Amino acid sequence: MINNTSKKHTHRITKKEGLKIFKDADLLELGQRSDDMRKKLHPENIVTFIIDRNINYTNICINRCRFCAFWKDEGDPEAYLLSKNELFKKIEETINLGGTQILIQGGLHPNLDLSYYINLLHEIKSRFDINIHGFSPPEICYIADRSHLTIRETLTLLKEAGLDSIPGGGAEILSDRVREVISPKKIKSGRWLKVMEEAHRLGMRTTATMMFGSIEKAEDIIEHLDAVRSLQDKTNGFTAFIPWSFQPGNTELSRKLSVFSHQSKKRLSTFDSRLLTINYPATAVEYLKVLALSRLYLDNIENIQASWVTQGLKLAQVALRFGANDFGSTMIEENVVASTGVSYRVSKEDIIKTIKDAGFIPAQRDTYYTIIKYF
Ligand code: SF4
Repeated sequence: MINNTSKKHTHRITKKEGLKIFKDADLLELGQRSDDMRKKLHPENIVTFIIDRNINYTNICINRCRFCAFWKDEGDPEAYLLSKNELFKKIEETINLGGTQILIQGGLHPNLDLSYYINLLHEIKSRFDINIHGFSPPEICYIADRSHLTIRETLTLLKEAGLDSIPGGGAEILSDRVREVISPKKIKSGRWLKVMEEAHRLGMRTTATMMFGSIEKAEDIIEHLDAVRSLQDKTNGFTAFIPWSFQPGNTELSRKLSVFSHQSKKRLSTFDSRLLTINYPATAVEYLKVLALSRLYLDNIENIQASWVTQGLKLAQVALRFGANDFGSTMIEENVVASTGVSYRVSKEDIIKTIKDAGFIPAQRDTYYTIIKYF
């Protein structure tokens, strides 16, 4: 963990300064600053990764977020809910490949209640020795609301049943102005932060994510970074921050835009007009800028992940000189980003070679960033 007292004499970037950096900074100067900070926090020149599998237990989801290509309605021919046996088989394969974690998350399924999740966690833990990194804040809130329990009560029960840590999914941009447009039915920023705070207070570690490159402005990105930094000041429970860019393929947002290109702007509704401010897909330069700024702004979060799943291996390699010190997961399986048509497939060996070629020592880690093996 970063020792908060060691930062006392270090100048902390203000919101105003963050905004100025984002808008005006020269890319390479920004990269150099973030690389210097990465070196200070990780002087041992190691870049870590984890062997795990994303298990999306269901794609049925009532939220229908406009940026998401993964969800299906119940009854859709492509809708699914994995059986427990399918799920156990995937976990067994993960362990056989040296995996130490499963990232289990899915849509908000209208027919699954708290007992389903509790039984599932119990059954996994009774069969396998593996870290369960599961259920992002929208799922936790949905389970809580359906059971008429508080977030804390729900998390306590899930933790007792075997949930170890929580992924930062569902954050998108922690600005309700943006959420209202891209995912109007999803929990608002305050609830996302509340789930994370309660989890940290119960001793669970979590990650934080940010999806940018839709309709947000620079101010929204700063608001997001500031909300995450403020919570980390209070709880110190985030292990890592993972920014990634909106992947438009097969989403409602991208379909809207293709319709707009055939319409007069005057005929658009207010809602549709707001979508015209979409600035996707984010370019490589925008990704690197956001990544570097995240490294600088989040002075109390130790690890910043490069996202090869959305950016590809080559840009993720460059990201290691723009503040990232972790390569995320080998992703034995990935379904959510793949639904947008973006599908980078890499092996553990590819990741190791990519890290080595960038001048770093690759190391496999666990969920809590403890090193398991050097390569
Ligand atoms: S992003 Fe998550 S909550 Fe939103 S529609 Fe997709 S699966 Fe559902």
